[in-house]
Amino acid sequence: MIVALSLLAYALLLGAVGPRLLQGAAWADSAPRLAVAAWQALSVTILTSVALAGLALTIPTVTVSGDLAELLRSCVMAIQEQYASPGGAAAGATGAVLALAILGRTLWCLIAGLAGMARERSHHSRILDMVGQADHRRGVVVLDSKESAVYCLPGRRRQMVVTTGALNALDDGQLEAVLAHEQAHLSERHDLILGFSRALASAFPAITIFSAAAEETARLVELRADDAAAARSGRLTVAGALLAVASGGVGHLSPAVTLAAGGSGAAARVRRLIPPQNPLSRTRTAAGSLTVAVLLALPVLVLGSPAAAAAGHTLCPDATTSVNASAP
Ligand SMILES: [Zn+2]
Repeated sequence: MIVALSLLAYALLLGAVGPRLLQGAAWADSAPRLAVAAWQALSVTILTSVALAGLALTIPTVTVSGDLAELLRSCVMAIQEQYASPGGAAAGATGAVLALAILGRTLWCLIAGLAGMARERSHHSRILDMVGQADHRRGVVVLDSKESAVYCLPGRRRQMVVTTGALNALDDGQLEAVLAHEQAHLSERHDLILGFSRALASAFPAITIFSAAAEETARLVELRADDAAAARSGRLTVAGALLAVASGGVGHLSPAVTLAAGGSGAAARVRRLIPPQNPLSRTRTAAGSLTVAVLLALPVLVLGSPAAAAAGHTLCPDATTSVNASAP
């Protein structure tokens, strides 16, 4: 019971403190990749902590033993002991329902979300085959439209799409920059990262941290793609390209399942790109990475620590002693 309560308290603490540390933090804009990892770790840790709390209520802690037969015997004895009392049985059933509900709901929304995205992309890809013109030199599909839009379609075919409006609005350097932006989305699989955070937000809409994580992740992957483009083309070129693309009404042409170069938040992204880059120091990056790793590991350590602490003790009566005690 203490383990389950500790895990629930840890989840509540993270839910209360985590968003305040991450949302709008200045360091996040300097290290968007680390910030995305931090949001993902926060979400996964909260979810895992509650699910493991349910597991801790369902299965009592047993003695750690290198002897498999002894370990199994301890498990059976501990479970029999817990479920012999009505209170223990009720706690076990509640824990099982909690763990299964979280796991089932998460998996369901994740699979449904990814399948829906794949269907929409496949549909959009078929439309591109009908109305788009392949430009093999640039490695893009060109759509005939006055609107200025550049976006990518992740998935098996990994297509980048440019309208004729965008080709007219962008010079060669700017076009290279927006394509590098889209290439970063594709190669770093930002679609999967976004799919996961959106699935959690739709699975548990009442838990606002998951919707905040989805929103921030969507913003941060754009910053990350901008940085990748800036490394290739320079920050001012990317800023100019964003302005040219965003002013063309990109939102009308790029469907929700794609990742566009312009889109919402473009003005803030341009403002971020104009000053010289101020990357996070190595020490702060290492400290942030370590925090992410500890966040993820702690629930498992909390669940495992009582078992580890109990090593060397026996929960069940020793069979030899019992036999000797009952002998005449
Ligand atoms: Zn983008």
